[in-house]
Amino acid sequence: MEKRRTVPVKLDVDSDDDALLRDTVDEFLWAANYVTRHAFKGEYVTTSKTTLHDDTYEDVRDETRLHSNHVQAARNKAAEACKSVVEKWKQGKQASMPHFTSPHLVYDHRTATFHGDYVSLATVDGRIEADYVLPDEERDTPHAEYFFSDEYETTGAELHYTNGNWMLHIHCKKEVESVTPEQDATENRTVLGVDLGVNNLAVASTGTFWTGAEFDHWRREYEKRRGDLQEHGTRWAHENMQAVGRKEEGRFKQTLHRISNELVAEALEHGCSVIAFEDLTDIRERTGASWGHKWAFNRLYEYVEYKAEECGIDVKQVDPENTSRRCSQCGFTHPDNRKSESFECLKCGYENHADYNAAKNIGLRYLRRSQTDSGGGAPVGVRLNSGMLNANGEYEPPADESVRAGVHAESPPL
Ligand SMILES: [Zn+2]
Repeated sequence: MEKRRTVPVKLDVDSDDDALLRDTVDEFLWAANYVTRHAFKGEYVTTSKTTLHDDTYEDVRDETRLHSNHVQAARNKAAEACKSVVEKWKQGKQASMPHFTSPHLVYDHRTATFHGDYVSLATVDGRIEADYVLPDEERDTPHAEYFFSDEYETTGAELHYTNGNWMLHIHCKKEVESVTPEQDATENRTVLGVDLGVNNLAVASTGTFWTGAEFDHWRREYEKRRGDLQEHGTRWAHENMQAVGRKEEGRFKQTLHRISNELVAEALEHGCSVIAFEDLTDIRERTGASWGHKWAFNRLYEYVEYKAEECGIDVKQVDPENTSRRCSQCGFTHPDNRKSESFECLKCGYENHADYNAAKNIGLRYLRRSQTDSGGGAPVGVRLNSGMLNANGEYEPPADESVRAGVHAESPPL
């Protein structure tokens, strides 16, 4: 059987090459969306790669400057997304036509060549070369373990643009006779816990915060303008209000797309196989969130779900009970542990940002549930910005010392 791993590598890209990569990504996303729209045109959704190829290949070649393998990769991407929509329909779930927005591009051995310290990538106008930006310490990093290891072969890569950087997620595989659950469990399969809330729209167990300020500003502005227009009560005012609504909704969605892209990138960069959220059903009652927030949480969850799926990451919801009152360090649960934004455990004294503590609890809850459910093959830790929490809530320091800069660094318990 095969063992597959993905290694994130940051690329050093100059401004000319940056422009070329952006154009290539734009055309790739255009192609994937074009094929998707075509697939949804008829009475049934077309999911066959061959049919989609026959129907769209020439058009996409005419309309873009993409390498033929990029055209095929975009078509495969579209076909797989359409297939998963049809799967959801069969299970009685809701799903709408996929639309690709997260900036990424799929490479294979015809479009990318991996060298010792740089990669050569096909673009819409010839090839570019970009150096790898690697951690100083080369021992015990995923780069050393998989990417530069003779045992693993590279099978392709996805290029992502996140937080102002081009990141190449290189897929590696090796043939192994068999993998026991114990072996698999040692492979750092981890969960990213995410807490959603009003002050911070999202907080990840890695210590990254996404503030709600921008969203709040828009929502207040929207409600105010709606109020002004409603006072007039005329037909004109009514139509104007709907136009304001559509425009504001579009802007909210843009922000949520950006946050969802960054959340998925966070999971990818930390090698997480699962992103865990709390169950959103009663979130208004629990957090005092407005209708607008509930709307935003649902959109954000949906966006993360389908974008993560594109990258092979599962997205799950866990029981939200006490995630904000429980100490992520010792498990002691008490309403007085939390005072608005700060968390201080009455039993062990653990102190941190309340939303960050909740994100860790959400990750831990998923971890424990999945370990009870399935035994082997389940994730083994909750990813922090440095190191990991195991299912007993014990802190495990990182293998290497290249600690990521995060908002809330985790220190080992005393
Ligand atoms: Zn505690």
